[in-house]
Amino acid sequence: MSYKNGRYMKLVKDIDKSSSNKSEVTDKQAEEAFKTILTWIGEDPSREGLLETPKRVVKAFKEYFKGYHQNAETDLSKTFGDVEGYDDMVVEKNITLESHCEHHMAPIIGVAHVAYIPNKKVVGLSKLARTVDVFSKRLQTQERLTMQIASTLMNALDAKGVAVTIDAAHQCMTMRGIKKEKATTVTNYFLGSFKEDLSIQNRYLSYLGK
Ligand SMILES: [Zn+2]
Repeated sequence: MSYKNGRYMKLVKDIDKSSSNKSEVTDKQAEEAFKTILTWIGEDPSREGLLETPKRVVKAFKEYFKGYHQNAETDLSKTFGDVEGYDDMVVEKNITLESHCEHHMAPIIGVAHVAYIPNKKVVGLSKLARTVDVFSKRLQTQERLTMQIASTLMNALDAKGVAVTIDAAHQCMTMRGIKKEKATTVTNYFLGSFKEDLSIQNRYLSYLGK
């Protein structure tokens, strides 16, 4: 099965399309929009404490959503060819994850665990965390985020297998709506040998418990 086909590519295409629709909205216009929201919730945007708030929110949003201007494949293109014979799995656990759900724009806070089995190339460990960041800093569903990280690593590293697990709390569930403040959601996505060989998958999962 090619990871360039099927459902994953469709999802990536959707994202590419939305990010290529370059927004013509200026910072000033975005600040005005936040001013409108401040009024709408019952505030007075001209009171002293709120004067700089729209500007600050725009700056914060640039950080929350900087992933739209980043490309994970470029970051992953700097691989090391010399793996000195290392051919076992590399597991990076507990990568802090901060994203926003695309349904409520509410924070998704949790951790990601990423593993791969190198083929001929290994990548700097920080690049695994970086890949998590690039896709997190966009509006997401946890399911798609999990798949995007896995499929991007699989393709960019030409790995024998990739596993990605995300365990996160969705503030749209904990702070509003159904209000289950302890609920977290776990998603997994396995590719290559992690999918085909259950002993490899189980070994990976056993590391997560430790
Ligand atoms: Zn939501």
